[in-house]
Amino acid sequence: MNSASSSVEPVVKEQAPFLFLVLFFLVQATVLLVFTVPFSWNLVWVAVGSYFLRMFGITGAYHRYFSHASFKTSRVFQFVLAWIGAMSMQKGALWWAAHHRNHHKYSDTEKDIHSPSRKGFWYSHMFWFLRDDYNDYEAKLIPDFYKFPELRWLDRNHWIPPLTYAILLYVVGGWGWLVYGYAVSTFILGHATWTINSLSHVYGSVRYESRDTSKNNVWLALLTMGEGWHNNHHYYCSSVNQGFYWYEIDVTYYILKVLSWFGIVWDLKKPPKKVLDEGMSRDLTKKQEKMEASKNRAEAKNKKKVEVLSA
Ligand SMILES: [Zn+2]
Ligand SMILES: [Zn+2]
Repeated sequence: MNSASSSVEPVVKEQAPFLFLVLFFLVQATVLLVFTVPFSWNLVWVAVGSYFLRMFGITGAYHRYFSHASFKTSRVFQFVLAWIGAMSMQKGALWWAAHHRNHHKYSDTEKDIHSPSRKGFWYSHMFWFLRDDYNDYEAKLIPDFYKFPELRWLDRNHWIPPLTYAILLYVVGGWGWLVYGYAVSTFILGHATWTINSLSHVYGSVRYESRDTSKNNVWLALLTMGEGWHNNHHYYCSSVNQGFYWYEIDVTYYILKVLSWFGIVWDLKKPPKKVLDEGMSRDLTKKQEKMEASKNRAEAKNKKKVEVLSA
């Protein structure tokens, strides 16, 4: 199937939703295996390394590349990105990106697949993708990548990358590496990723009028390698960097920037000056309003003091 626009199927059925559900709950439960391994800092670093490698698979690959096409790369590296993303056990790149495109299209409306303001926190966090209706995805939402047969194969077999990764960890480092590098790391990675669907639509500051509940949150940005600048992202989603200014830490962008120096990725899309200027002026207005409010509060307090003293 080469021509995406003329031959995509309307809805793509997952081959093994039941297998996915079983694996999902098994992996969630395996975090408890941490009690079978004596604590060591080396194992913690294995878990942290495994976490950030696969977080990049979600943020740099699934989100910024497959969902938003915010940079370009070769067909080979595109497959590598899809593979690393799948190692996080959050299904295939096409499935993930198709649903994410719908999230942007219908943010916080009834049709939004994971809106905390419409459907509740836990539903937006993780229950939405456990429903049968979301086992499938509409191929017409992602024709630009659906046209590649190797990506369609990986999507149908999205269990292969996490399984081979788990086996590799076991072969290299034994039971300790498997428990910390896979079970513990995958559990935390999953919940950290999903905070962007749940928490980043609830807690944080609003810079842009994005017509949804998206927020900027520095803590979530640190946890998710830059995805916490979610209000910036909803306002201008085709930008490769979600931290718009130098002080908004965005590790995913830094990695992509380094990869671009080596010619592995290219055509990194940046936000236009107009968007950046608008953000700056909104920040400035907010700062002035805050200062004004605190000045008024101080004056009111002093006035009260004077009244009490003169009474
Ligand atoms: Zn997005
Ligand atoms: Zn969102």
